[in-house]
Amino acid sequence: MKTAEIREKFLRFFQSKGHLRLPSFSVIPQNDPTLLFINAGMTPLKPYFMGKPPVFPGVEGEWHRVTTCQKSVRTGDIENVGRTNRHQTVFEMLGNFSFGDYFKKEAIEWAWEFLTDPKWLGLDPQRLYVTVYEEDDEAFAHWVRVGVPPERIHRFGADENFWPQDAPSKGPNGPCGPCSEIYYDRGPEFGSDTWADYYETRESTRFVEIWNLVFPQYDRKDGGILEPLPKPNIDTGMGLARVAMVLQGVTDFYETDEFQPLIAKIVELTGVSYEGPSSVAHRVISEHARAVTFILADGAHFSNTGRGYVVRRLLRRAVRFGYLLGLREPFMYKLAEVVAEVMGGVYPELRENLEGVQRQIRLEEERFLETLESGIRRLDGLLSGLRPGDTLSGRDAFTLYDTYGFPLDLTLEIADERGVKVDTEGYEKALEEAQELARRNAAFDRNLFKKSNEALSALAKDYGGTVFLGYERTEAEA
Ligand code: ATP
Ligand code: MG
Ligand code: MG
Ligand code: MG
Repeated sequence: MKTAEIREKFLRFFQSKGHLRLPSFSVIPQNDPTLLFINAGMTPLKPYFMGKPPVFPGVEGEWHRVTTCQKSVRTGDIENVGRTNRHQTVFEMLGNFSFGDYFKKEAIEWAWEFLTDPKWLGLDPQRLYVTVYEEDDEAFAHWVRVGVPPERIHRFGADENFWPQDAPSKGPNGPCGPCSEIYYDRGPEFGSDTWADYYETRESTRFVEIWNLVFPQYDRKDGGILEPLPKPNIDTGMGLARVAMVLQGVTDFYETDEFQPLIAKIVELTGVSYEGPSSVAHRVISEHARAVTFILADGAHFSNTGRGYVVRRLLRRAVRFGYLLGLREPFMYKLAEVVAEVMGGVYPELRENLEGVQRQIRLEEERFLETLESGIRRLDGLLSGLRPGDTLSGRDAFTLYDTYGFPLDLTLEIADERGVKVDTEGYEKALEEAQELARRNAAFDRNLFKKSNEALSALAKDYGGTVFLGYERTEAEA
């Protein structure tokens, strides 16, 4: 089943259940200064969970049931891109929402119907597993009633099954509540881990989280006080690319129909073939090309702060990977065109704003490539004073990163060509010092920081001592 068909089916299914279908909102929050980006389907709809009458421009009457496919940005997942099979920085989240209308019973019944009915997705019910909040007997009972065997339902605490995450008392203010998640078992060929392993470690390659049903019934106030909302709500989020990957039976979303044209273009531009999971570069470039194009098309600009800094980071990360594949000229702007071709039918702004987006990307690439080149010249200078067997100091390696945006993995690679080692421990130390300074100076998005660290510990575990690690860590906390 093609991605477009899944998207369409989801929206039509919920229309058939009385929902108003709205187009995606911009990824740039319109009335929420606390947020850098829209990060879920519910974010632009928050006021309606709090009791604001759900009326929408150009639509008659109040709509207490809404369905969308929302472009969502998760900067905390940047480091995951290219490494996990399931994280994008910009992704499409399908959702159905109830503003004080239906609650758990319908949300669970409909989710089950949509996933398993052959008329809709027709997934094998035997492969579906669910989680519920530890105290949520009601959700548990509804799952049993629709036919999920109790042994495939697991209870987790607030760190997993309360949304937005963290203990009910700790998360951000606003609507929140227990949630219930649906996982798909891709089978032993995708990993020998069992559901019990997932239950233990909460990490899996075999079991993929596809859908989160959130039951916002509280308004979280300062000090973690949970005040019941006037009426309980429903907020769900399903990752479109994850479902496509499951239905298309492919290893990861890079092999789905919407990513293939991008990967093909990268192969064409670099002459380097795509070797599936091992080709981190192709994956990062394709994902970030999509992300940058989406974000710029919604009106963001490259800059050194906030939103603009996020797109800059995404672009630079992709350009570096392109550099590693031998690209010395701007190329990302060419990929923006492929993004607009593939996705422009659903998101017309991609086509409407393409020219301006390409111009911005190209300029930014040219500038960054110059910086990269001067970094390389500087490194050449440093290396010319060293002999094979010598070690480049960690401080120098860090300055290359800090001043020239020059990633450690490139430094390592070039130094290695001359038989020179790099003091990566010293690099880490210099990095930590700089981070400590940054920590003290800027009180910025703590949650993002925490997420990056979690992602990094996971990476460190998976990838041990790969050369990419230092570079990733640098980026994660830059
Ligand atoms: P994960 O645990 O895999 O990071 P999550 O629990 O952070 O996912 P939710 O906040 O529950 O995700 O978002 C709802 C759904 O959106 C998820 O079930 C998943 O299908 C999808 N999703 C979340 N993050 C991403 C991402 N970075 N890229 C693609 N899809 C995502
Ligand atoms: Mg996540
Ligand atoms: Mg999760
Ligand atoms: Mg989740």
